[in-house]
Amino acid sequence: MVKAVVGANWGDEGKGKITDMLAREADIIVRFQGGANAGHTIINNYGKFALHTLPSGVFYDHTTSIIGNGVALDVPVLFKEVQSIVDRGVPQPKILVSDRAQMVMSYHKNIDAYEEERLGGKSFGSTKSGIAPFYSDKFAKIGFQVSELFDDALLKEKVVRIAEQKNVLLEHLYHKPLIKPEELFEELMEYKKMVEPFVCDTALYLHNAVKEGKNILLEGQLGTLKDPDHGIYPMVTSSSTLAGYGAIGAGIPPYEIQKVITVCKAYSSAVGAGAFVSEIFGEEADELRKRGGDGGEFGATTGRPRRMGWFDCVASKYGCRLQGATDVAFTVLDVLGYLDEIPVCTGYEIGGEVTKEFPATHLLEKAKPVLKRLPGWKCDIRGIKNYEELPENCRNYIEFIEGEIGYPITMVSNGPGREDIIYR
Ligand code: GDP
Repeated sequence: MVKAVVGANWGDEGKGKITDMLAREADIIVRFQGGANAGHTIINNYGKFALHTLPSGVFYDHTTSIIGNGVALDVPVLFKEVQSIVDRGVPQPKILVSDRAQMVMSYHKNIDAYEEERLGGKSFGSTKSGIAPFYSDKFAKIGFQVSELFDDALLKEKVVRIAEQKNVLLEHLYHKPLIKPEELFEELMEYKKMVEPFVCDTALYLHNAVKEGKNILLEGQLGTLKDPDHGIYPMVTSSSTLAGYGAIGAGIPPYEIQKVITVCKAYSSAVGAGAFVSEIFGEEADELRKRGGDGGEFGATTGRPRRMGWFDCVASKYGCRLQGATDVAFTVLDVLGYLDEIPVCTGYEIGGEVTKEFPATHLLEKAKPVLKRLPGWKCDIRGIKNYEELPENCRNYIEFIEGEIGYPITMVSNGPGREDIIYR
């Protein structure tokens, strides 16, 4: 059985916690897209971890963690991350890296930073992890695939060609130091040394695992609204965040993905620029940010304060629809226990008309939130295990949202730990 765990919104919905939790029953966990630009925060019996590249299932000794072909593989970051968890007592994880994954090179990270600098106030708010230059190069067919590390002749020719092309930009657009082909070759050899023991035809490995009936989790990064096609383009990420892409980024048939667990947070947060209709500001936002997540809503990679907002039914319904949600995991609900009333965005007013369908970006910029206020429950719901034991107003909040989005909320997360979960 293959399940995908993906985000319905702007990311940071708590996918890491849900994956870590579901990984207990899984054999294999696969990252299928994205890179080290976003983080998952996981709290378990080993402590609190911020993972960027490793799948969130690495904490069990019975799981295999796969870096799929769709990932932007930052080799040194991957190995630093493995070391950092092993140093804290986690058993040495079993890792396989796709021979078809491509690698983030140091020039991708440099160019990412130079471009943000060049754009100044008009920047995209990139984390400067090289993701956009990496995926641009992949699709321009000038990326470095892991399999190529084992072909010296090819690499020696390719580093010259790549340096020649990148140096035009570096010299004339950015006015920065140039790439030396021999240094690029050395960088690749360093990566080869690190990655060699783990390289595998992971699509074949997964094909066999599916045939054997293994439990496989595909772990998405970010959420629907950051998808390059279906998100808030151009304020999106550079690889597809949708469960459908899990098939491609892992190399398995689309019909094998039987469950799409779509994670929705009980309020909204976003990082980076772009339209965010239910956004709140000032003290109201500061209070929610301070109480949010586990220890506040600040980026797991950058430490940047996240933008905050009320739950957005329009965006979440859309987010679940594009993911093809079979189950919704509704997270971080415990955080809302301090509010007398909880506003929920139920529609967008655009040019005098109210819609419940999420529009394309140019209309989104004009949308104003239509808010409905639901009564709060004013207590701490952590520790509750049964749905019926939740306060009535809390159940009403869940059921109202479920009705608006039209997808079944089958899990409610009421704390950051593995066991803080209520199944419905
Ligand atoms: P991801 O990128 O989707 O994995 O999300 P992040 O890890 O960036 O953000 C989720 C944050 O919320 C983390 O700090 C989690 O520990 C925390 N978290 C997850 N689920 C819950 C929950 O139900 N309640 C609380 N209070 N925190 C949660």
